Amino acid sequence: MKLRNTAAAAAVVVALAVSATACGKSGSPDDKSDKSSGGASAAAEPPKYQVNSAADVKGSSVFEKIKGKTITIGTKADQPGLGFENPGTKKRSGFDVEIARMIAADLGFDEAHIKFATVPSEARETQIASGGVDLYVGTYTINDERKKQVGFGGPYYVAGQDLLVKADSSIKGPDDLKGKKVCSVTGSTPLKRIKEPKYGVAEAKAQQGYQLCVQELVNGSVDAVTTDDSILKGYAAENKGALKVVGNPFSKEPYGVGLKKDDTALREAVNKAIEAHEKNGDWKKAYDATLGRSGVPASPPPAIDRY
Ligand code: GLU
Repeated sequence: MKLRNTAAAAAVVVALAVSATACGKSGSPDDKSDKSSGGASAAAEPPKYQVNSAADVKGSSVFEKIKGKTITIGTKADQPGLGFENPGTKKRSGFDVEIARMIAADLGFDEAHIKFATVPSEARETQIASGGVDLYVGTYTINDERKKQVGFGGPYYVAGQDLLVKADSSIKGPDDLKGKKVCSVTGSTPLKRIKEPKYGVAEAKAQQGYQLCVQELVNGSVDAVTTDDSILKGYAAENKGALKVVGNPFSKEPYGVGLKKDDTALREAVNKAIEAHEKNGDWKKAYDATLGRSGVPASPPPAIDRY
């Protein structure tokens, strides 16, 4: 995919986030007015991360390039609770954004020296490989196919593919999708999986971002949206009473931090940063302030995969 298309795709995603807000949808994780509605952790704020001003990553070509400057981190902008950009304030929030911030801090970059770039699922490998982004943190499943093109730190979380449907839908799991129209996102693992003949879907509609799929579900042009349960829960929370997550996950999606394939020094620095923040409690605090606000308590973080 060419950069021009990537930028256009990102623009679509951002434009959609704007229109969703304009329609009066509330409940984005950085929406302060939403704080009264969560569970026990509703008042939680993400932690502040100690910046390591003496950071160095010997042998990392990417770090050499950005040392003392700015780190560019790719993420999503339309996934509340994970990677969301408030269209008004431009503030980024969500668990992925917090993971990005804690790793950046360990690499010596404070908030003023992090540039977040919105990159849709489809453009991740090209953006990482071309150096358009230095790291990518955005519901990015680690798998062998992707490892041919990029490297992965982590995992830092494990999600599972699930379904988002209308509140009155009779769909209870992937076995109920025969003859149904399902929406997912180009370049994602859930789109690929749902096309498998065993599910028998009538149409697997591909969009540029999940917010666009949610719109299709609300309009009634598809019967379900499929992707990671972690992502779908954010949309269900924004559409309480109208949409629901089926809650019958049918895959494992370990989230990794995407980086240049051969930069093993950077990969190890990212792994160390994740482990350190899991150990000092930041990971849990970040979870509680973002994904945890849906009411689902944190499971222990997965072990780092040093492949
Ligand atoms: N985790 C899945 C993937 O990496 C789905 C979410 C996404 O598209 O970011 O493909």
